[in-house]
Amino acid sequence: MQLIFYGADKEVTGSCHCLEACGERILVDCGLQQGADGDGENRLPFYARQIDAVIVTHAHIDHSGRLPLLVRNGYRGKIYATGATCDLLKIMLLDSAHIQEVDAANANRKGRRAGREPQEPLYTVADAQAAAGRLVRCSYESPVELSGGIRFRFVDAGHLLGSASVELWVRENGLEKKIVFSGDIGNRNLPIIRDPQVIREADYVVMESTYGDREHEPLENYVPQLAEVFEKTLAAGGNVIIPSFAVGRTQELLYFIREMKERRLVRSVPDFPVYVDSPLAAAATQIYGGDLTGYADEDTVRLIRGGFNPIRFSGLHICESAEESKALNEDAAPKVILSSSGMCEAGRIRHHLKHNLWRPECSVVFAGYQANGTLGRMLADGAARVRLFGEEIAVRAQIYNFRALSGHADRRGLLDWIGAFEKKPARVFVVHGEREICEGFADELVRRGFRAWAPGFRAVADLSTNEILEEGAEPQRVSAQKPRRVSSAFARLTRAGRRLMDVIRENEGGANKDLAKFADQIDALCGKWSR
Ligand code: ZN
Repeated sequence: MQLIFYGADKEVTGSCHCLEACGERILVDCGLQQGADGDGENRLPFYARQIDAVIVTHAHIDHSGRLPLLVRNGYRGKIYATGATCDLLKIMLLDSAHIQEVDAANANRKGRRAGREPQEPLYTVADAQAAAGRLVRCSYESPVELSGGIRFRFVDAGHLLGSASVELWVRENGLEKKIVFSGDIGNRNLPIIRDPQVIREADYVVMESTYGDREHEPLENYVPQLAEVFEKTLAAGGNVIIPSFAVGRTQELLYFIREMKERRLVRSVPDFPVYVDSPLAAAATQIYGGDLTGYADEDTVRLIRGGFNPIRFSGLHICESAEESKALNEDAAPKVILSSSGMCEAGRIRHHLKHNLWRPECSVVFAGYQANGTLGRMLADGAARVRLFGEEIAVRAQIYNFRALSGHADRRGLLDWIGAFEKKPARVFVVHGEREICEGFADELVRRGFRAWAPGFRAVADLSTNEILEEGAEPQRVSAQKPRRVSSAFARLTRAGRRLMDVIRENEGGANKDLAKFADQIDALCGKWSR
């Protein structure tokens, strides 16, 4: 009964854990490495054909984006996710595949001119469709039997529509252990979705730590403050540009804007037009506007029962085509534009920034995390000018940063989540955070009496004995596709190796003659065994 850490280990993206038990290999998440984490490889660090089942916690690409690659490499099993996650995965994996194809085509165009061999995309739209064809829809809290000894169920993680933590039970050689995978733990009081559900017991917990070192600003007064920015900008004849993640954040903002309109908080242009300008956001808005039974929070359910669509209102326009998007820049009427990408690194938002950043009557509102080195971060940090499409653009628009809206629990929320376990688990594995944050949050848990540890990439833990067999490496890129198998004999050997190091340290300060003899013996031993 072993747990192997294949991603988001002292990193934020690329979530992937593998449970080996009862002769099966079960993956929990198969995410893409993104941003700075994705500089190197996105190949799989194991053989896809040796995986027996995949459980996906939620649709974000850093938890799901290598599913098409898994299928491309020969995976033929089922992919379990909640119904809403399945719906979102269908559009998000296709979008991700489309980006992979476009990126590869662009790289190859440049590569041809430089005389390089053409490269294949990481995966194609056809691979994404094949992965979507393997999805199995599950409901929250309904047990799913994977094999004779392994069963699991999803509980609501309150992070994104359909997001889940996984409770998994393994029975092997008469021993039963329960392992909880937190997935991404949500923030409280987010619109549309429910708060994270409490879990009370587990033998082992694998938990995220994205914001393990900070507290969020409170979410109160979000709507009136946002309305004030709208009021000021629209009254001056400017546009409000909101770079927004297409899935989740865009729909949360639509929920707030509907409320703003209902409460008539923007008086200068009460029926102001709002444009959602992103094909992925358009598709996601369709899903969020559909049947959310079993997924939405009480307020949203009440609205739907009362015959209201919580994210629709008069003046809402969805731009599907590039022509509709371009037409927005020629229309002088003041308006609100939500477009992606959320960090302004790609997509239609860059066109809207080019047309609006230089106008002092316009506003840019950031409503999500801006990673270091992105255009969004530069603007949020107050850059006076930026380059867009080879053109220098002066930043004269007002820049606002609404930090309170976060899909992730902050430090307090994470501590509350783990604090809800009635008995302390045998070990907490802290993952999904930058290196210092994973280690710092694990230390914090240790101070609170937990046995906690931040595994490295390819770390291996034996869950029947609660031993760490491999500590894993610092974040590094995958070089080979060899599956990681740790036999018990090999584990014994690595323990013997560590004991040897201890004995060496004990001999510090010994007689030179003795130390030389000891070194000769180790050299002879290594000579015999090194290959
Ligand atoms: Zn997520």
